[in-house]
Amino acid sequence: MTQRWQIGDVKITQINEIAVEVGELDGLIAEATPDAVKAVPWLYPDYATEQGQTLWSVHSFVVDTGSSVVLVDTACGNHKDLPLIPSWGGLDSPYLDRLADAGYKPEQIDYVAITHLHLDHVGWNTVLEGGRWVPTFPNARYTFVQDEFEYHKGLTEGGDVSDDLGHAVTYNGADPDIHRQTRLVFAQSIQPCVDAGLVDLVPVNHTICEGVRYTSTPGHTKYHHSLTIESKGEIGFITGDFVHHPIQVAHPTWSSRSDWDREVSSARRQEFLASVADSDVLVFGTHFAGNSVGRIVSDGNAYQFVTV
Ligand SMILES: [Zn+2]
Repeated sequence: MTQRWQIGDVKITQINEIAVEVGELDGLIAEATPDAVKAVPWLYPDYATEQGQTLWSVHSFVVDTGSSVVLVDTACGNHKDLPLIPSWGGLDSPYLDRLADAGYKPEQIDYVAITHLHLDHVGWNTVLEGGRWVPTFPNARYTFVQDEFEYHKGLTEGGDVSDDLGHAVTYNGADPDIHRQTRLVFAQSIQPCVDAGLVDLVPVNHTICEGVRYTSTPGHTKYHHSLTIESKGEIGFITGDFVHHPIQVAHPTWSSRSDWDREVSSARRQEFLASVADSDVLVFGTHFAGNSVGRIVSDGNAYQFVTV
């Protein structure tokens, strides 16, 4: 079933890729032990199991303003080499069929917007055709925030990762070599778009098209951006990994172990949640499982995510 929401004149549709295996990302937010998860009752059943295991999803959002179609984040992709998270690599998912079912052919995508250049956000930038990686969306401008692009390009060239706390995270059976993984991401999902002349490197807080703009939310990566959608006085906000799991709405200071800087991430998240609490702003969670869209409502000293 296609899930769709409206912000003024803008139509937003969720395109699912994979449901993360139950328990696979437990521990990614260190404080989110099963008991701590169970203590936030509204997380069940969409965002956690009854046993307190966290649930996650990998998906994209299509933002259709009526004059432009923007695809926000492109998930893991098919047939990719993902040694950092092997279970997300080598996929053969019907993502493009789901995009078609939602009414969009690859040729109709005008812009690809990427919150950050991690492997689970850039995969469908390209598809494998005759042994070559080619851009999936031939008519799109792939808009990458220049600072984010250059930081990750630096990692392909052996750039220093010592200030990057996120790289301390390793998964079972994974190859923790971040340089190697970033080189693979660039070779398979980024460089083919550059070579095809489809990439625009854009400044911080760039406006992609009328009503859709990047919004700086650093912490998960150094130059992470969320997306703000505005139409007819209504506002939507696509989180990216700035809010990694809904438990961070109940506990804004709990950062993800895969964050570049957990203190920066925590501070920006607290500021954001305070600014939208009890407003009509619709929040679209990039890794939220089940119903991923809702409002932020005050709840004692913190907040609750109330789905719509
Ligand atoms: Zn992610």
